[in-house]
Amino acid sequence: MRYFSTRGKSEAVDFTTAALAGLAPDGGLFVPEEIPSYPAVVRSSLGTMDYRDIAFETIKPWVNPDIPDPVLEEIVCSAYPFDAPLVTAADRQVLELFHGPTAAFKDFGARFMARAFSYLRRGEDKPLRIIVATSGDTGGAVADGFFGVEGISVTVLYPRGRVSPLQERQIAGLGANVSALAVEGSFDDCQRMVKAALADAELKKRLNLSSANSINVSRLIPQAAYYAAAAGRALAGRSDPPGEASPCSAPNGETPGSTEHRVRKGQAITLVVPSGNFGNLTAGVYAWKMGAPVRRFVAATNINNTVPDYLSSGNYLARPSRATISNAMDVGAPSNFERMAAHLSWTDMKESILGAFVTDDETRDTIRAVHTLAGYILDPHSSVGWTAANKLLERGLVSGPLGILSTAHPAKFAETVEPLTGPVPVPPSLARVMERSPQSGVIPADSSALAEVL
Ligand SMILES: *Cc1c(COP(=O)(O)O)cnc(C)c1O
Repeated sequence: MRYFSTRGKSEAVDFTTAALAGLAPDGGLFVPEEIPSYPAVVRSSLGTMDYRDIAFETIKPWVNPDIPDPVLEEIVCSAYPFDAPLVTAADRQVLELFHGPTAAFKDFGARFMARAFSYLRRGEDKPLRIIVATSGDTGGAVADGFFGVEGISVTVLYPRGRVSPLQERQIAGLGANVSALAVEGSFDDCQRMVKAALADAELKKRLNLSSANSINVSRLIPQAAYYAAAAGRALAGRSDPPGEASPCSAPNGETPGSTEHRVRKGQAITLVVPSGNFGNLTAGVYAWKMGAPVRRFVAATNINNTVPDYLSSGNYLARPSRATISNAMDVGAPSNFERMAAHLSWTDMKESILGAFVTDDETRDTIRAVHTLAGYILDPHSSVGWTAANKLLERGLVSGPLGILSTAHPAKFAETVEPLTGPVPVPPSLARVMERSPQSGVIPADSSALAEVL
């Protein structure tokens, strides 16, 4: 597979170059020359295949020939000792993406990326320096994914005081090859600083810089796998029992409620994606274009509603981000929009993606209501997804099976969730993180300050 830049001013490159560079030399994002398709036999067995097999089949054409099949097989087996169960809660499904070590969906991308980088750089001796901006969860997943990987160091930039205590420990509590910088500004500032450092050719070359943000195509590709798995199972009329550490108090996931939007054999599912930088939804679009049987997507945001606004008006207007209780989605200038727009015109986008945005009060009301109704505890991000779906259902815009991507475990946001639901069960991996003590440098929201620290 070859990749070219969304800005069209750079040469097409192979997967290795696109992954290790992160950003194209002209400042654009790498997109594939052509989106591959699942072979017919894979497409027809998505509903019954093991998650690792789906991940292998999904990633393979994107990394061919740079990562040979046996290596890819090893990578996916070691990256994914956990699943992405599609469980039933009340009248619909929840796609639980939080069964990895940092309890957010970012583990799917970061764990593949760390292993792929380690393979692609075999035999290199100049250390690689990864810089990554985070609004909360990326930093933890990338830090965890790369922790202890030889020849690669990671620097995480996060907005000071705007991540949860648990997130801060995940980002800044590891040490060794992982260092953390608390930026006196917003996530957009962090992202701008990372982009500026990567766009500085001299700095980039001297320090051998790369990025692990969802601007990096190698993080997006593996995420397409859980869309294919969920869509395949939904079409086969199958859902899963709640995974271990699922925040569901109903035995066997037998939650009460109408069955109207539960999975039904032969009916394609609508998938609701709580979005910030739109990397996750871009991966969904890739899965769908590869042939995963998704009926439609919903782009759900908090009040940082740049994309829902674009979907209704056709005008793309980036704006400063505003702080909310779904902080991993506080993005006013979503970096992956450029990638989505490279594949879909406004008209195409409107046909395949519905948009809706949600306030903090609505987010809290839904967490309370779903807990009371179904015994299921949503984290604030997943609640944005659930609430956005409700809004579209009320307007008659969505019908048939419905799945909400649950992007994080509610225990990650206990300070917000517990006042609404009572105690949230804590997965063991998170309990261990709380024992760490965070250590980070503080820097102003200024690109030259970053260059100096690096
Ligand atoms: C990162 C994140 C999101 C947003 O995902 P994007 O790919 O940036 O759109 C949503 N929810 C959680 C919990 C996250 O960590």
